[in-house]
Amino acid sequence: MKTYYLHVIGCQQNEHDGVRIHHLLDKIGFQETTKEKADLIIIVACAVRQTAVDRVFGLVNNIRKAQKNKNPKIIVTGCVIDNDKKKFKARQVDFWDIEKPEQLAKLIDFKDQKSLSKLLREGALFSSSVPIMFGCNNFCTYCATAFTRGRERSRNIKDVISDIKKLIERGNSEILLLGETIDSYKDPETGETLDILFEKLNALDGDFIISFTSNHPKDMTDEIIKAVATLPKIKKEIHLPIQSGSDKILKAMNRPYDAKTYLKIVEKIRTSKVPIDITTDVIVGFPGEDEDDFQKTVEIFKSVGYKTAYINKYSPRYGTAAYRLGDPIPWSEKQRRWRILNDIITGK
Ligand code: SF4
Repeated sequence: MKTYYLHVIGCQQNEHDGVRIHHLLDKIGFQETTKEKADLIIIVACAVRQTAVDRVFGLVNNIRKAQKNKNPKIIVTGCVIDNDKKKFKARQVDFWDIEKPEQLAKLIDFKDQKSLSKLLREGALFSSSVPIMFGCNNFCTYCATAFTRGRERSRNIKDVISDIKKLIERGNSEILLLGETIDSYKDPETGETLDILFEKLNALDGDFIISFTSNHPKDMTDEIIKAVATLPKIKKEIHLPIQSGSDKILKAMNRPYDAKTYLKIVEKIRTSKVPIDITTDVIVGFPGEDEDDFQKTVEIFKSVGYKTAYINKYSPRYGTAAYRLGDPIPWSEKQRRWRILNDIITGK
């Protein structure tokens, strides 16, 4: 029997892909083992920060050292920009586009491509998360997702509902809907939006709750907030990434909203019929973020009262627009800003 090791870096979308890959490899007869022993290594990579890409290179080097004279097949999937694909190739690491199972079949020399495609598709159903859209149109200057995952594509509402029905039948009680900017979801044929999808899911029989991530403040609508507040099967939580409380930095990040607009959305959420938790993502130490800019983020953190926050220390990502700005803020200063925000979240 062949063995594999899977390493996932990055966001929930990648975690979801990881679950699909585990399921798929299990079905085609691979057995999971350690990176020191595996014949096949699959790494689900993240392109949002350079540190994540460096981790992949580091991991590949470690595996090669640990396996010495053996020659495991190493494959990278997930978010990888073209320039990094070339660098991986130079290190005998292959790239696999996860939406193309036939590519994997070739890479691992697996003959039955048809059943591999079927398995990969069905693998999605074994996880409790369901991607409802892929890609992104936003080109935030620190992020490579629009380059690596392509432009926004929403799935057909009928297919999404059918996947979720199967999960409910299998007893999943908490189902997570995934999309890079999920609040811009729109059925490609009917034009039905996320709030309509929520209504349809809420009407399904069964004891389950639906959560969703991630949102872009520019796409958040009153209808989505109302649906979250009023539909019992939709979790009372909205993830609303702020990224920075400074309008100057938001502009440099190509985030098309200002702090005032963001706080108006927060106000709508806060004044809805039932309490709704708000969570967020933020970046500290983006190039040009001075103390005054940072204090604006601190003020927002204090005023919103986030349930939780994913606080990221900026690191430049090759291939993004912000890369040319360098990385002028020292790591120690990013660490200090991280701690201040973290203390607010943890109530210290
Ligand atoms: S909205 Fe911005 S941060 Fe989010 S995936 Fe798209 S480009 Fe990246």
